Amino acid sequence: MTATRIDGKAVAADLRAEIAVKVKAFEARARRLPGLTVVLVGEDPASEVYVRNKGIQTREAGMVSNEIKLPGTTSQAELLAVVATLNADPAVDGILVQMPLPQQIDTQAIIEAIDPAKDVDGLHPANAGRLNQGIEALTPCTPLGCMILLEKSGVQIAGANAVVIGRSILVGRPVAALLLAANATVTIAHSRTRDLAAVCRQADIVIAAVGKPELVRGDWIKPGAAVIDVGINRVAADSGKTKLIGDVHYESAAAVADVITPVPGGVGPMTIACLLQNTLTAACYREKIDPKSL
Ligand code: NAD
Repeated sequence: MTATRIDGKAVAADLRAEIAVKVKAFEARARRLPGLTVVLVGEDPASEVYVRNKGIQTREAGMVSNEIKLPGTTSQAELLAVVATLNADPAVDGILVQMPLPQQIDTQAIIEAIDPAKDVDGLHPANAGRLNQGIEALTPCTPLGCMILLEKSGVQIAGANAVVIGRSILVGRPVAALLLAANATVTIAHSRTRDLAAVCRQADIVIAAVGKPELVRGDWIKPGAAVIDVGINRVAADSGKTKLIGDVHYESAAAVADVITPVPGGVGPMTIACLLQNTLTAACYREKIDPKSL
């Protein structure tokens, strides 16, 4: 069997086009545009590229995009003050503080300072708690993207055995909560899991969110499984430059799986598209508009 490659770029482009239409419907009802503000502290080159792409795609979807760039020496108190200003600004629907933050800043304190109603990253404990209780919540973007890719690929989630590798608050835990909400039987594996290969072999759905290049091999995959590779690992290429690879060894896994995401071009493009979706959802909640009615 050779797996069908899930085209995350195409799914993300369709989602962004759908969002752009809904933004117009939102504007007609709320008489304003949804607004996203991204805060970047320091000069991490990867974060700068990511923030630039967020800005471009937010504007392309017809929303207001603002970027606040702060020096790498910014103190925690200064960043908390910026967050407080954004919390109080009625034109701001979504606040995203780009991670990682410099060492002198307590990331958790910043996450908890963001108004949960504007927490488009879905990391605030109020949103994480709501997600775990199965209540409507702003949900982390990458996990939302994984679920959309599974659904668009026609994967049967209800009743499936799903194994999530990784337990971060950004990916592993929320994607497990979403799979559970969709009625999968969910196992969360992590760095202390015994015999990870055997755990994986039970899975109809594997979500790899580890950050270890090609950890998951083809002989860990149950024939006919769906494989979603969240990992982004920069490694040296033969050309002497660097290239991106996932947490799954693509060729061997694709030889046994039914569907599989590539890296790059799989989950990655979905993350920003889902951020736009979350910004629109946050704007709808704030205007007391049912997002499903757009
Ligand atoms: P993290 O470092 O916070 O968490 C990694 C998790 O993997 C931990 O829970 C750890 O227990 C587990 N783990 C580590 N080694 C393991 C091993 N040998 N066996 C089993 N589990 C192990 O990382 P994260 O933020 O969740 O990100 C995971 C990966 O996903 C990274 O490569 C990151 O770059 C990527 N990522 C991609 C996107 C995207 O948009 N595609 C978004 C977020 C993260």
